[in-house]
Amino acid sequence: MISRNTIRIGQLEVGGPQFTVIAGPCSVESREQFFQTSSFVKSKGAQALRGGLFKLRTDPSTFQGLGVNAYQLAKEVKSELGLPFISEITDPRQMSDLDDVVDAYQVGSRNMHNYSLLKELGMSNKPVLLKRGLAALFKEWILAAEHIVKSGNDQIILCERGIRTFETSTRNTLDLNSVALAKQETHFPVLADPSHGTGMASLVTPMALASAAAGADGLLIEVHPDPSKALSDGFQSLNFEQFENLMNRLNLVLPALDRKSF
Ligand code: PEP
Ligand code: MN
Repeated sequence: MISRNTIRIGQLEVGGPQFTVIAGPCSVESREQFFQTSSFVKSKGAQALRGGLFKLRTDPSTFQGLGVNAYQLAKEVKSELGLPFISEITDPRQMSDLDDVVDAYQVGSRNMHNYSLLKELGMSNKPVLLKRGLAALFKEWILAAEHIVKSGNDQIILCERGIRTFETSTRNTLDLNSVALAKQETHFPVLADPSHGTGMASLVTPMALASAAAGADGLLIEVHPDPSKALSDGFQSLNFEQFENLMNRLNLVLPALDRKSF
């Protein structure tokens, strides 16, 4: 039996009896959009906020994130709401300033193999949410976590976000086998991201519930006040009503899984 790590992000404990929902927009687009989304998800039970500042987009002509220009607004929103904030670091050079903004670093799918970034995060005292590379083997994902541990930081939360398979009807294929396997074979808390895992808002709730049933310790969910106007990942973002519905359904399922509901 593997002894499990629980990871603290501020006041929040991830990997314990309480299921964790980290929610917010794909990208921080404006103070109003981030505040509105964050206060809504908080009111429905989300315990931490997400929101991209640096966006690694496949198409360089699309929105690349507000970057350093949004540091101040992100700090204000998280302190007004009293929730921890998680955002992606895309380059080790961001760390000196970003450290003051985030409570945990996200490593995105495209950077799972960026070993110099992983090493740098190994020297941080903040938790790291390590997303699985979109074409990474289970073993490569766990070894990426070991790179961070070896450099001195064992506060790692794994996040399955879907992998590329031969199937093209959905953006990615959320690999719930790997969620269950990571719980069995590692001591890290494991989250699932059904937003990127499916790429379709209508599939997020069913796959979120399935992730909880597969043993995930929590979820990373993209939410936007008006997904049709989102500057990134609108197609997979839940609107407020859909997020509320997800949380209501999750609350029905969690007690059957021996998890505390919200
Ligand atoms: C994100 O969480 O918005 C993101 C870019 O995720 P991924 O790295 O999994 O594509
Ligand atoms: Mn996204």
